[in-house]
Amino acid sequence: MSATFLGMPPFPEAARAAVEDSQLRHNLHKATHTIRDKRGQAVGELDDWAELRSEGAAIKEHTLRHLDRYLEQVEESVQRAGGTVHWASDAAEANAIVTRLVHGTGQSDVVKVKSMATQEIELNRALEQAGITAYETDLAELIVQLGQDLPSHILVPAIHLGRARIREIFLEHMARWGVPAPQGLTDDPRALAEAARVHLRERFLNTRTAISGANFVVADSGTTVVLESEGNGRMCLTLPETLISVVGIEKIVPTFDDLEVFMQLLPRSSTGERMNPYTSMWSGVAPGDGPQEFHLVLLDNGRTDVLADTVGRQALRCIRCSACLNACPVYERTGGHAYGSVYPGPIGAILTPQLQGMSSETDRSLPYASSLCGACYEVCPVAIDIPEVLVHLREQAVEGPGRTGEKAMMAGAEAALSSPAALEAAQRAASAVRGAVPRHLPGAASAWTDTRSAPEIPEESFRRWWKKRGEER
Ligand code: SF4
Repeated sequence: MSATFLGMPPFPEAARAAVEDSQLRHNLHKATHTIRDKRGQAVGELDDWAELRSEGAAIKEHTLRHLDRYLEQVEESVQRAGGTVHWASDAAEANAIVTRLVHGTGQSDVVKVKSMATQEIELNRALEQAGITAYETDLAELIVQLGQDLPSHILVPAIHLGRARIREIFLEHMARWGVPAPQGLTDDPRALAEAARVHLRERFLNTRTAISGANFVVADSGTTVVLESEGNGRMCLTLPETLISVVGIEKIVPTFDDLEVFMQLLPRSSTGERMNPYTSMWSGVAPGDGPQEFHLVLLDNGRTDVLADTVGRQALRCIRCSACLNACPVYERTGGHAYGSVYPGPIGAILTPQLQGMSSETDRSLPYASSLCGACYEVCPVAIDIPEVLVHLREQAVEGPGRTGEKAMMAGAEAALSSPAALEAAQRAASAVRGAVPRHLPGAASAWTDTRSAPEIPEESFRRWWKKRGEER
């Protein structure tokens, strides 16, 4: 059975458990700092990085403002090129469409290109329930799938695992999914990569249907674009007979020329490379070349609700580079699982509560999973002001259900601070009971005084002292 984020505890609880895992903290520190340093060098090489960043943000902003028009253009372009477009308003609809399409091929196995959108809708579970086995082919996704684990990073889903654990996973589980790991497998990275290569090769050669996401869909040509580092995606996108791509509606760019900007922003921000190693682009189908049947499933799943929020909608500019994760001091200590969602780190803290709503305590806790230091905003290649959205979502979280004690305290403070007479009465009352007020508050308020002492209440207020002083003169 596929692992799921459903039922994960709120962030503070999950984070507490994660920070106690010293091995996890060591792995995260090493990995995030290595990628962060590489990104810094790659970005530092470009004199016009600030202009590129503004241009990337502007293209995305423009597309989102006119999304209705561009979505229709995508449909026309893809269908003109021989593909079929499907519209999915939510996860259930998208899963039903993909399941029906796979059943239509007569196959019960599919290979998958790494895709956040299909993780978001828990496609693998839906396919499994319909008797279809989805095989992940990205190396890190393969490790996560074999280990019945969950991804913990957008770019490096197995960032929380060391190579010794990966070796164990290969030895224990590979045989159940196909070609087994070789006897005597060591934890040498090259040996592990070779075991995965042999395992996957057999899968690529024998599977006729593939499922992918996409980094971009170009409206004027209907071109779908996937960027990856291993070439596994390229195998899925070229060898099978049928290709189904599930793509969030925010992934559209208007023209092919716009890709010029993102092809510079994305590799430098994600892997710290000047150029992406494997970039696959296809427009519909071409006779005798690659899959002969192409379906594009355009996924909403909460995105139009996000668009309606004038502050929060900037999150839809995200190109999933993961630079904000690598820069975040909170992510570096907790890892991705604590965020309880397929989107971890700063982008997850603003995207998940917007896509899913804030009805659960877990989703309401996410906007607080940040120190608001602003490091995420500084590195974001499309200038998403993540701290601004976090504060905006915190406002919504406190307006929603729960936090009754805090709300009552704030209402009391508002009443006292808006009336001089009420304030004086409150100050007198506080001074009268000052000896009985504990320095560490009980119950839910203890979170405020766990790491600091409540201020000492003076014998008399400044106003009273000032008044007395005047009377004595
Ligand atoms: S929010 Fe910005 S930095 Fe974070 S993943 Fe998205 S594009 Fe990258």
